[in-house]
Amino acid sequence: MENNKALTVTYLIQLGELTLKGSNIKEFERRLVQNLQLYLEGVHSRVTLKNGRMYVECAENACEAVEFSLRHLVGISGWARCYVCEKEIEDIKKTVMKVAQIAKEKGARTFKIDARRTDKSFPMNSYEISCEAAGPVFDGGILTVDVHNPDVTIGVELRERCFVYGNVEKVCRGLPVGTSGKGLLLLSGGLDSPVAGYRMMRRGMKVECAYFHAYPYTSMEAQKKVEDLAEKISLYGVETHINIVPFTDVQMRIKEVARTHEPVNGIAAEAYSTLLLRMCMMKTANLIARHIKCQCLITGESLGQVASQTVENMEVTESCCDLPLLRPLVGMDKEEIVDIAKEIDTYETSILPYEDCCVLFSPKHPVLRARVEDAMELYNALDCDAMIHEAYEKREIKMFNARNYVWDHYGTKDKQ
Ligand code: ATP
Ligand code: MG
Repeated sequence: MENNKALTVTYLIQLGELTLKGSNIKEFERRLVQNLQLYLEGVHSRVTLKNGRMYVECAENACEAVEFSLRHLVGISGWARCYVCEKEIEDIKKTVMKVAQIAKEKGARTFKIDARRTDKSFPMNSYEISCEAAGPVFDGGILTVDVHNPDVTIGVELRERCFVYGNVEKVCRGLPVGTSGKGLLLLSGGLDSPVAGYRMMRRGMKVECAYFHAYPYTSMEAQKKVEDLAEKISLYGVETHINIVPFTDVQMRIKEVARTHEPVNGIAAEAYSTLLLRMCMMKTANLIARHIKCQCLITGESLGQVASQTVENMEVTESCCDLPLLRPLVGMDKEEIVDIAKEIDTYETSILPYEDCCVLFSPKHPVLRARVEDAMELYNALDCDAMIHEAYEKREIKMFNARNYVWDHYGTKDKQ
């Protein structure tokens, strides 16, 4: 959004993987700009992209909103607040000095200059610019040179104008959300599924969510926790809708069949209950995904993490959906997943103690290597197609997006 108020601050943004794209790069760039504009709707700012760099200009009081957005925007590799000066060596030297002094105030002792010149008409080459601009900084005793491990790398980029900046903050990378189709994430309250959603967003996928709850066996706090997780991942995914599916009837039906059905292939029916629940979830998720035009389903499964995640049981789950089922965490261990959950700020929410529906209904000795035909025999005994349709019809939908979050947390009236 723009008005007459001065856009005095400039951020220079380095693009992520999309720089590797060939002829369709424009489409990726357009999407990236559009996404950032969505984050900043209502914040006084201007987003532009030119020659492989994106820029945001904003008013001083919009900096928090912009920096928050840049820390979450998928598709960029780094950003820095920069100073814009004339393409004239004396002006460049002065500006480098200013950046060096700011870095020194923040505790830096050593520096190097990384100069780039896309404007080849400038009479000095990158090396000469670096040497010339570095002179006053070490002559003046501000910082000493360390080309291998400097506290601050001062960037000097000669483009349409000259941009000078201190350390670049490294961020998400990946591809702009919306460039790789749309997937439906089965989002539970645990640690894994939010991370799985984030990983797919990083590949450019727009992610929608489905949560199955069994009120009153699972509490409203459990549902609120999953909604909070959906909101947290929407900060990376630009926007997401969570489909909250009432699954109590389905769960009760599974419990009943698990208790009354005779053993299958020598294994108690009860041992299949978690797997049956997963099968029902898949069926329902498949319906939702088709309805909202998602091309795949996504889960937080990781091979061998729990009984329902052996490769045999994964085959069973998968047999209940006809869309591709993506499991971005399949080869990751728990520690790696926890690290990402901390990085994306879902960890503290995920470890809140509210019971997930699966826990309350889990069998003592779950089947480890189910055969598809055995699980299907029990699934058919559930005779739950109508129930699943009803759950699908009765789902409640809530929307979360980054724009509302930025506005609620960093918006002020005078930014409008
Ligand atoms: P998570 O940490 O994501 O809860 P988990 O390690 O607890 O996963 P499971 O409970 O076996 O593993 O669930 C496997 C996957 O099934 C989850 O990652 C999630 O994608 C999906 N899932 C499980 N329970 C639910 C639910 N109540 N609603 C939606 N999806 C669910
Ligand atoms: Mg779980």
